[in-house]
Amino acid sequence: MKITVITIFPDYFSSPLGVGIVGRAIEAGNLDVQTIDLRDYTTNVHRQVDDAPYGGGAGMVMMIEPLAKALDPLADTTRVLMSPAGRPLDQSMLDRFAELDRLTLVCGRYEGVDQRVSDNLIDEEVSVGDFVLPGGEAAALTIIEGVARLLPGVLGNAQSIAGESFRDALLEEPHYTRPAEFRGWTVPEVLLSGDHARIEEWRVAQRLERTRLRRPDLLG
Ligand code: SAM
Repeated sequence: MKITVITIFPDYFSSPLGVGIVGRAIEAGNLDVQTIDLRDYTTNVHRQVDDAPYGGGAGMVMMIEPLAKALDPLADTTRVLMSPAGRPLDQSMLDRFAELDRLTLVCGRYEGVDQRVSDNLIDEEVSVGDFVLPGGEAAALTIIEGVARLLPGVLGNAQSIAGESFRDALLEEPHYTRPAEFRGWTVPEVLLSGDHARIEEWRVAQRLERTRLRRPDLLG
């Protein structure tokens, strides 16, 4: 899979793309991530990508021209604009993106992007939550990280995806590891029992209980 990121801060991505699962996916050739510096598509001497909003008001708006020049050669890819006004990102959206060969992520800055970009050059807008970030880079990274771990061959154990939170509309059960007791805080007895049927029963009950208490909205 190839992901192209359009941003005014390509350096933002250098460290995160080199570590962990994403770093391994790129090194193994499962994933290719290319960043495009939007300023390379400007025509003015100051490499300006923003201008004052029509109608007045605070802040600056990202201009359509450099974005159009950067996006035109990517018309055969799925083009996603990071936007607080977009559809909220969820696991099913990441599953869908992970099926694609080519994905383009556009990172806004300032007050946002000229609406004509979204209307004419973008396939969908995606939000990472009901809050405002200073730019779309962290949102794009969230998508890259979420997609990378779904690509075939990236995670060692396919089972680790199967039982995760948001599969089957449930949160995952809590996990414990050694020591069995720390400062008097103990591990649930059932996990030490070696009785696999009881452990599985406990895990299923925990998934249901946690989801009911913390995210009843997932149960519908
Ligand atoms: N003025 C905009 C508003 O009130 O909706 C916020 C613009 S924000 C400061 C600048 C850029 O950050 C946006 O164009 C978008 O690309 C990105 N961004 C901010 N919050 C986001 C979110 N929750 N999800 C996705 N992208 C976000």
